[in-house]
Amino acid sequence: MVTYEQAHHNIRRVRGPASTHSCLNCGDPAAHWAYRNTSPVELEGTLRGSSGMVRYSPDPADYDPLCVMCHRIRDRQIAIDVWDWRGYTEEEVHEGMLEDFRVELEDLHEICDEEDLDYDEELEELTQHYIKKTHHTMQFVRRYRLMFGSL
Ligand SMILES: [Zn+2]
Repeated sequence: MVTYEQAHHNIRRVRGPASTHSCLNCGDPAAHWAYRNTSPVELEGTLRGSSGMVRYSPDPADYDPLCVMCHRIRDRQIAIDVWDWRGYTEEEVHEGMLEDFRVELEDLHEICDEEDLDYDEELEELTQHYIKKTHHTMQFVRRYRLMFGSL
């Protein structure tokens, strides 16, 4: 199995140090390769010298270059997702995310008209965003329940 350290070594080998890229969110110089949390080949392991479990991917394509601030925001956003959905069943999470998607969809035509954006492209992007978001939220909800039981 590829260890966490090997995975990060591979990213730098294939894509270079994060500092040679711009932050995907804000365009500032990046500082970290941040795991996207949505890999189908996700692995779990411990960091050298630590007992905490980390999730990571062996695939360098599953990481984004982020600055320190955006990395923190992303991780916190994920934590907020989990906290918001604690105690819900997986079905309820799925329904809830779908409802959020529908709400955003209602305004999409208007936003595209106002900002002169291509509706089909924006729709595709929004759809992909929600598929990913639903997937990773479900993963966390499952994990959360395994760790703490349902609250
Ligand atoms: Zn940034």
